Amino acid sequence: MNQDSKILSGKSLSSKVYNNLLTRIDRLKNSNVVPTLAVILVGGNPASKIYVKNKTARFKNLNLNSFTVNFNDDVSEVELLNKISELNNDMNCHGILVQLPLPDHINTEKILLSIDPYKDVDGFHPYNLGHLAAGSPTFIPCTPKGIMRFFQHYEIDLKGKHVVVVGRSNIVGRPISILTSLKKEYSNATTTICHSGSSDIFKYTKLADVVILAIGSPEFLKSEHIKDGAVIIDVGINRIESNNGKSKLIGDADFDSLINKVKAITPVPGGVGPMTIAMLVENTVEAAEQTMQ
Ligand code: NAP
Repeated sequence: MNQDSKILSGKSLSSKVYNNLLTRIDRLKNSNVVPTLAVILVGGNPASKIYVKNKTARFKNLNLNSFTVNFNDDVSEVELLNKISELNNDMNCHGILVQLPLPDHINTEKILLSIDPYKDVDGFHPYNLGHLAAGSPTFIPCTPKGIMRFFQHYEIDLKGKHVVVVGRSNIVGRPISILTSLKKEYSNATTTICHSGSSDIFKYTKLADVVILAIGSPEFLKSEHIKDGAVIIDVGINRIESNNGKSKLIGDADFDSLINKVKAITPVPGGVGPMTIAMLVENTVEAAEQTMQ
């Protein structure tokens, strides 16, 4: 098999998502509704700034609205809660995203809880996570939602398969472990979730038909840790220094060692990342549509 055909491109899949959204966006605009995202960015974390820039650029590209509310590192919890309350009541704002992580003195859970669940386009509010856990998803967190699109688009049916998720964050690991095991089309897998408390993670990855990596550990998974023909979804984003002194992004999978053994793999960059942003746009369009009902 040609190696390129094994690479699940998030770049090309996200373009298809954007194309499919155009009719829905036009319909909204015909009713004078422009999907609008508000982003709250606290402090000057360079990675957070880049993520926010990439997300908002995509909105601009599609002629959708987005704006960023910047706060200094020393912002108080009350100030953030007041801003979120203001955005919750703003009819022209359809989605609210708080860029994580927040500084230590801020209670992240309290902040996420204050977002109107109908504007929670990141899907991190317990209302939306609860619906997901109950098997009737509302807003699905963008990264896990994007991962499921890979399975659907590339016709990787998880039914009866063994999926091993490494990482259990509320943002990626836990929601994707739920999604892959729901009794729904392209899901219905037997899912194992591993984390820092698991002993011998590779014992599980060696048995897996699909491995989903979301830990943030560069090239954690190598070819000797999987069986022939496994599918690898690499969520990890790790910045490392390359030989020429410049920095580069790599995933949690050792792509070069795995490519000859896998059935399919997502690259880093250009895999899960672009799909995360596409799902954020899709969720914001969905939030805007809900205001029309
Ligand atoms: P996180 O909140 O730090 O969670 C990491 C999870 O991995 C935790 O459950 C942790 O276990 C587990 N873990 C860490 N090191 C481990 C190890 N050596 N062995 C086993 N488990 C380990 O991170 P996250 O937000 O889920 O993100 C994970 C990675 O994905 C990061 O690299 C992040 O940058 C990337 N990411 C990418 C996208 C994208 O769009 N491509 C989106 C989100 C995140 P404990 O629970 O025990 O601590």
